[in-house]
Amino acid sequence: MLVHNAYHHYWPRWLGSDVPHGNKILTDLSDNDHTALHTALRQWLQANHPAMMHGPGNSGAVITSRFPYWQDRVAVLDDFYAQYQGGAHLDAFRAEVLETVLRGLFH
Ligand SMILES: [Zn+2]
Repeated sequence: MLVHNAYHHYWPRWLGSDVPHGNKILTDLSDNDHTALHTALRQWLQANHPAMMHGPGNSGAVITSRFPYWQDRVAVLDDFYAQYQGGAHLDAFRAEVLETVLRGLFH
């Protein structure tokens, strides 16, 4: 389980975000909420978009070269956050994406 720190990247770095760890764009989650979110994202990607799952043999570089358009990766994340906990994190996810794009902190 990769839980980098309390500040959650709604747009994970392995899907192309370059927002530094701990940046104020990110959202501070409790350890429990953070771990639960990462577990749910992993399970959801495994079921729906296994080619976007980060893991052995599937690094961020491999995933972003396979899905070269950041919009495609963000759209998959949008689908995840739309259903996770009834969309409770969707607005925060979209706000982070907007700030990330405005600052050019992605690839
Ligand atoms: Zn996180």
